[in-house]
Amino acid sequence: MRKHYLHVSAYSCDKCGGPVISGSTGVRENEISRETDIREVGAICLSCGHRQANATAPGGTRDFPPVQWDTPKTRADHLASD
Ligand SMILES: [Zn+2]
Repeated sequence: MRKHYLHVSAYSCDKCGGPVISGSTGVRENEISRETDIREVGAICLSCGHRQANATAPGGTRDFPPVQWDTPKTRADHLASD
């Protein structure tokens, strides 16, 4: 079964040293397949709002375990189900 996953990682902000949260989403067709359709969803510092796309300090990235995420509903689907 096709499943969607959310990946989150955190690293230090170049401007203020605060936590930058970076996310991406991917899709797996089944349990053993590789993820496809990977989309970066952007990164932002939670302290100062600086949008820093990549970690610059080596080894400074903390990766959180991927979590399964239900397929995002489009607005049209949402309206149709109400
Ligand atoms: Zn910052």
